[in-house]
Amino acid sequence: MAHPLYIVLLGPPGAGKGTQARRLSERLGLAHVSTGDLFRKHLREQTRLGQLAQSYMNKGELVPDSVTIAMVQERLQEPDTVKGVIFDGFPRTVAQAEALDDLLAQLGGRVNLAVLIQVPEEVLVERLSGRRTCRAQGHIFHVKYNPPKVPGKCDFDGSELYQREDDKPETVRRRIQVYWEQTGPVVDYYRARGLLVEVDGAQDMDTVTQALLDVVTAREDDEV
Ligand code: AMP
Repeated sequence: MAHPLYIVLLGPPGAGKGTQARRLSERLGLAHVSTGDLFRKHLREQTRLGQLAQSYMNKGELVPDSVTIAMVQERLQEPDTVKGVIFDGFPRTVAQAEALDDLLAQLGGRVNLAVLIQVPEEVLVERLSGRRTCRAQGHIFHVKYNPPKVPGKCDFDGSELYQREDDKPETVRRRIQVYWEQTGPVVDYYRARGLLVEVDGAQDMDTVTQALLDVVTAREDDEV
């Protein structure tokens, strides 16, 4: 069997990581691991982890590394991850990036590629404030740029669309600031290891998906 492929998607909130990670995971047959989605699932199910994460999430702050890393470690035990993973929203700190290297080494793998999706800040704020998320499975829409067929209802599963608490404008700017403060060094971490590629995320969604697929294919060709 080919080696598993581990890809890290980086980019500020609103860059399109979630949408693109879903598409890539479908096209490439890799598991999509979004720490934000995992935290929201814990929150819905009112687990202890969810209760702990809630206060950080509502303020747009990061959940502590130890909690986040343990959650990812558990997720990597699941069988759908054997062919590889697209990491979305993780790692967000250098400590998380180092922990991910250790976790993947234990599985006989390593990060093969990190892609930074770049988008100007004004565009991020507009995208996030108009974003609507499906209650059941986290499918993502935008009131203006990617509206659902029926307002307020998810095209995929019919569940209610809502505005995430942390997509309200006052929290959005804080999240973008936290992103560059804490995750900027993660970008440098992968750049220093020759793993970083940048993609222009201000293009339309399909163009970005194709650019990402091209980057992945080029990396796979390099590695065989
Ligand atoms: P996201 O859906 O990726 O924007 O994440 C939503 C919120 O979940 C973030 O603002 C953080 O509070 C928390 N979160 C998600 N991923 C991480 C992570 N890797 N480390 C710490 N906190 C995270």
